[in-house]
Amino acid sequence: SIPLGFFGGIGGASKNGILIKGGNYLEALNNVDTVVFDKTGTLTKGVFKVTEINANKNISKEELLEYAAYAESHSNHPIAISILKAYGKDINKDEIENYEEISGHGIKVKVKDKEILAGNAKLMDEKKVAYDSVETIGTIVYIAVNGKFAGSIIISDEIKEDSQKAIKELKNIGVNRTVMLTGDNKQVGVRVAKELGLDEVHAELLPDQKVEKLEMLDRQKSEKGKLIFVGDGINDAPVLARADIGVAMGGLGSDAAIEAADVVLMTDEPMKLVSAIKIAKRTRRIVW
Ligand code: ADP
Ligand code: MG
Repeated sequence: SIPLGFFGGIGGASKNGILIKGGNYLEALNNVDTVVFDKTGTLTKGVFKVTEINANKNISKEELLEYAAYAESHSNHPIAISILKAYGKDINKDEIENYEEISGHGIKVKVKDKEILAGNAKLMDEKKVAYDSVETIGTIVYIAVNGKFAGSIIISDEIKEDSQKAIKELKNIGVNRTVMLTGDNKQVGVRVAKELGLDEVHAELLPDQKVEKLEMLDRQKSEKGKLIFVGDGINDAPVLARADIGVAMGGLGSDAAIEAADVVLMTDEPMKLVSAIKIAKRTRRIVW
């Protein structure tokens, strides 16, 4: 039987915008060893802005942005949304064929007889496109048209206001290890991790590599300690499902993520995770 106090704890949490799907998760929150975060949309706002357009000589910036916008027009990835916003014009979706979103890589699509690729270095490598790599602290979207490199678009995200505080508080309430996993490039990953005071970062990961890293971290934690994964659900539902406690950010998150998660934070603030753990600890004092 479940002690009555658990219901109090779950109810108290829900008043704070934290949905805990059962007493066993409330109890697990008492004993957190490792907290693993996704980056985009979780520790950062996931609201990217186009900051730079580098077009090759044979093409204008406007054309490059147009190719990118057509490629991204079916995607709901934060990167896609920023490119479409920067483009700002209507898109004739009838012209888009063979749309393919390749998880952790980018987009491949056919538009008016041209094949367009929009994505990261991995996508260019895989499709054997020679590209000019860019040194930047932003996220880079390389564009290729008919197998030839056409230019790159740099976009930047911002760290959420309360991310740094949340990482610090987690340490204060006894969390051993804080880790960030990201599919984004190393420069971005390391910069964000340093700024936030995270113990560790693993970058350039594909979705299934995120699961592998999570399993490695899980093996390394203390015997009774629990591992939390916190994500916004875009590309990370498998990791959410694999953690002892999968935490989804409900604001940006997809329905699939909310379904896969054990705890749902109704707003996108990392500090809500700290609140959830504190509520769990208070509940335990009442129950036992
Ligand atoms: P994160 O781990 O930061 O949440 P994702 O796993 O969603 O990132 O994506 C990893 C990387 O894959 C992105 O940083 C980007 O380089 C590339 N990517 C994913 N989706 C797209 C897209 N729609 N357009 C361009 N690039 C993309
Ligand atoms: Mg993500």
